[in-house]
Amino acid sequence: MRRRRRRRRQVAYESLLVPGLVLLVCLCLAGGLLLHFRKKKTEAQDASLAAETAAVETTVPETEAETETEPQTQEETESPALHAWEVFPQNGVVLTAVNARSSAEGDSSVVGVLQEGATVAISGTDGVHYIVETENGEGYVARKYIIPELYLSGNHPPFEAPSLDGIDLERPMVALTFDDGPKAETTNRVLETLEQNKARATFYLMGSNVSGENNDCVKKMLELHCEVGNHTYNHTYFNLQPLAEIRPSVREADYMIEETCGKLPATVRPPGGGISDEASEELKTLGLPAIFWSIDTLDWQTKDPEKTYKAVMENVRDGDIILMHDVHPETVEAAVRIIPDLIQKGYQLVTVSELAAARGAVLEPGKSYREFWR
Ligand SMILES: [Zn+2]
Repeated sequence: MRRRRRRRRQVAYESLLVPGLVLLVCLCLAGGLLLHFRKKKTEAQDASLAAETAAVETTVPETEAETETEPQTQEETESPALHAWEVFPQNGVVLTAVNARSSAEGDSSVVGVLQEGATVAISGTDGVHYIVETENGEGYVARKYIIPELYLSGNHPPFEAPSLDGIDLERPMVALTFDDGPKAETTNRVLETLEQNKARATFYLMGSNVSGENNDCVKKMLELHCEVGNHTYNHTYFNLQPLAEIRPSVREADYMIEETCGKLPATVRPPGGGISDEASEELKTLGLPAIFWSIDTLDWQTKDPEKTYKAVMENVRDGDIILMHDVHPETVEAAVRIIPDLIQKGYQLVTVSELAAARGAVLEPGKSYREFWR
């Protein structure tokens, strides 16, 4: 009995001994492995720490070196991103007679007087001014008074169709266009009316008018998602004036508009509505499509709000481009009625580029467009 019990106990011990040993071995192995990996990890950590420390040590002199030039670096990050044409030094053409000053401060001393049409060397920009060479050293001039030669010689990027979000392609639409502005006195009321009616229009701006309080009109146009178009710098006729005058006049208008609102016009409206074959070729090299009209209100001639109103309301059809001039108070009087009444009639008031895109047209440089009828 006892022996059997002992034997049974022995069996019990034996049966426990094997798994116990196995467990012990496993624990030892696990412990060993753990220690091994912990050691490895520590070594790795130490190594990476050492590397980091080494990195910190090696960068210390560089950091010190950077600290010395810190003001310059800060200035660079604060100034706006440079445009493609802003490669310095380069020459620029003075757009209007202007003083060059000794610093960016408007009341600093005058170091030189730049004459309209003169060519000056531009050595750089602070974002707001160009720094130019004068007889008496470097001078600061507000950017809009000098056009860099690289800008003058540059061309437009290809036409990009605007988003048609919110436009019902099935419903009728027209593009109202206003030429010869901006003129705050009259343009602002057109903008207010467009805003109140959630409508858009295209403004063909003259570069020479994009200054002073008119600048705010241009910014407001973009806020209202209107289109800013090019109507040359000083109303250059594409069929009457020398061909050589077209490029500078178009590019100067581009420049005044882009410098004011950051947006480059995508289309040009030929002043007076005339264009020669040679001028079309010139527009092709400039990368600009020419936009004419299908309804001429003759507002500039009649100066009669009722006649302007009727010219639109009695002739309008889906896809029309309508010509008006926002520089005449009589036109504005007509426009404040035309805008809500066209909407009432079921028309969507869109920009020229939107109308073109809605009708599937890809505007091509040098080509002329008069309407986008369905
Ligand atoms: Zn005009």
